[in-house]
Amino acid sequence: MANGSKPRLSVAKRAVSAGPSPQLGSRPSRAEAEEAVRTLLRWAGDDPQREGLRDTPARVARAYEDWFSGYADDPEGYLARTFEEVHGYDEMVVLRDIRFESHCEHHLAPIIGRVHIGYLPDSKVVGISKLARVVDAYARRLQVQERMNAQIANCIQHVLEPKGVAVVIEASHQCMTTRGVHKPGVVMVTSTMLGAFREDARTRREFLNMIGNPVSGERS
Ligand SMILES: [Zn+2]
Repeated sequence: MANGSKPRLSVAKRAVSAGPSPQLGSRPSRAEAEEAVRTLLRWAGDDPQREGLRDTPARVARAYEDWFSGYADDPEGYLARTFEEVHGYDEMVVLRDIRFESHCEHHLAPIIGRVHIGYLPDSKVVGISKLARVVDAYARRLQVQERMNAQIANCIQHVLEPKGVAVVIEASHQCMTTRGVHKPGVVMVTSTMLGAFREDARTRREFLNMIGNPVSGERS
């Protein structure tokens, strides 16, 4: 985890696992999911039958459908329709400050932050909204930030086959701000650099400057 006072560039390994594969076949019923919420309400010390909580299990089940809709998404599919005619454009494409909401797989607590994406097109470019959809497809699952970071970068590298991909994520983990060590304001910074962004310090620096350099701590 990045140290709050002196964030460092941490280059995530490419070999980060692809994460769990959805087990939709063994998916419990909605009634079972709602019953599980009732159990947690009792575990918290409350009475699921009191008026204010009576509809909560149904609401939580619906919220889960929204928060975890990424399991039904195909991130690579979003990039499949590319615009190949770039008329000689061979400079960096950067999408900065893509807000995301995810949930940590250790506590089911929200992870809220921003993703910055850069790539150096070879022949394929893609509509920018598609990159944001890729972020959401991975964010709307149970995650650890390092894996989500690598997944986004690897997905873009795999489908667009650019000369390089850079993905930086800055996020605050509510399992750390609202419980445990209670450290609000701590931002975790991770990055994955592939191809030209990994091999060429100048390319990497140009990208980091364009996104406000979160990994050097120079951002105001
Ligand atoms: Zn957590």
